[in-house]
Amino acid sequence: MSEPGAGVLGIFGGTFDPLHVAHLRLAIEAREALGLAGVCFIPAGSPALRDAPQCSAAHRLAMVERALAAVPGFSIDAAEVLTAAPGPSYTVHTLERLRRLHGDRRPLVLLLGADAFARLESWHRWRDLFGLAHVAVATRPGHELRVDAGETALDAEISARRGTAADLAGAPAGRIVPFAITALEISATGIRRRLAAGLSARYLVPDAVLDYIDSHQIYRTPHGH
Ligand code: ATP
Repeated sequence: MSEPGAGVLGIFGGTFDPLHVAHLRLAIEAREALGLAGVCFIPAGSPALRDAPQCSAAHRLAMVERALAAVPGFSIDAAEVLTAAPGPSYTVHTLERLRRLHGDRRPLVLLLGADAFARLESWHRWRDLFGLAHVAVATRPGHELRVDAGETALDAEISARRGTAADLAGAPAGRIVPFAITALEISATGIRRRLAAGLSARYLVPDAVLDYIDSHQIYRTPHGH
C-alpha cells in the first residue's frame, strides 16, 4: 500500500494486464526526470474506457507485486483492484482518495503515456484532475505532446498549464509537464497475443512476471483464466 510521506509522489495507474517493461521504464525515467520521491502503482479495478481485463484482479495485482519487489522507491496501492466495487474505476475518484490520504499540500503527479493523455477529454470529470494533481506526460518519437493552436479544450489546458519538472515541487497540483522516455513499442495487448499464440514474452515482461504467467498458465489460451 502507499504510505503518506514527503516529497513529490508519482501516481501511475494502469490495467497492467500484464505489467511489462515499458511500464517499469516509464516509472523509472519519470522518477529520474521529474525528481520524484517515489512512484505509486495503482492497478485499475474495472477500467472505464476499455474492455474488461483478460486476467483477474488478483493475478494482475500479483504480477505488479512480483515486478516491484526488486525496485526501491516504488509502492503499490491495491485499494481499487481489491474492492469489488461495481462500475468502472475513474482516475478522478482515485486522485480524490489519494488527496485525502496525502493531505492538501503534497505534490502529486499523475503519470500518463502520451497516447493516454491524448484521450483525456473522454475521461470522467477530466478538468477536475488538474485541481487534484499535476499531470506528467511521457513522450517518445511519434507520441509527443502536441498543441494545435488552442483547437481543443485540452489544447487550451496545455497552453495554460505547461511547465517543467522544476515547477512540480512548488505546488500540489495543476501543471502539465512533458518528459521524454526511451521509446519501447511494447503493449500488454501484444504480449497477450504472443502468449495466446504460444510465443515467448521473455524480456518483454520482467522474469518474475513471466514465471508467474507460466506457473498459473494465464494468457496461454485465447480466453485466459
Ligand atoms: P493494453 O495493450 O492492454 O491497452 P498497455 O500496454 O497500454 O495495455 P496499460 O496498463 O493500459 O498498458 O497502460 C498504463 C499506462 O502505461 C498508460 O498511461 C499507457 O499510456 C502507458 N504505457 C503503456 N505502454 C507504454 C509504452 N510502450 N510506452 C510508454 N507508455 C506506455
